[in-house]
Amino acid sequence: MATDFASGTFVVSDKREFVEPGHRQVLCLIATNVKLFCSTCGGREAFRPIWFSDITAELVREKVIHQKSLAKETFRISFGKNFQLFSLVFQCQRCQGLPEAFLVKRCELELFIEGRSPLEHVELPSYIPKHEKRWFRDAIVAFNPAKYSLRSSTFGLL
Ligand SMILES: [Zn+2]
Repeated sequence: MATDFASGTFVVSDKREFVEPGHRQVLCLIATNVKLFCSTCGGREAFRPIWFSDITAELVREKVIHQKSLAKETFRISFGKNFQLFSLVFQCQRCQGLPEAFLVKRCELELFIEGRSPLEHVELPSYIPKHEKRWFRDAIVAFNPAKYSLRSSTFGLL
């Protein structure tokens, strides 16, 4: 039973999802409020999820629509049983400025942040000269791969 639950498709949502009848809980990636650096506000602020999607499900849906309308296969696509891609978009609740987007990959029960726009803001010590901060920050971002396990991140996984 637990294996069936874990091999199911994740649903991305801003709340827990249940299947009726029986009120059974769905395997769910819950996008909750997160603390991120806001370049407009100049500090870490609360960001709210304003949009999220299951990219793999939308891609499969798009393939079916194209195949029906064109009466031929326009592209081929195949995913592993437990592979999914999600996009999550957050907005600063203080300034409501430009949204920040994440690309999240699921492989079996592991979730990874595979992309982010804008890139992560890196806090620097005050002894770094102001005119060199940009270069130092870019070097740190380039050195560190943008791949994190969600188990240690701020997204919820239930
Ligand atoms: Zn802000």
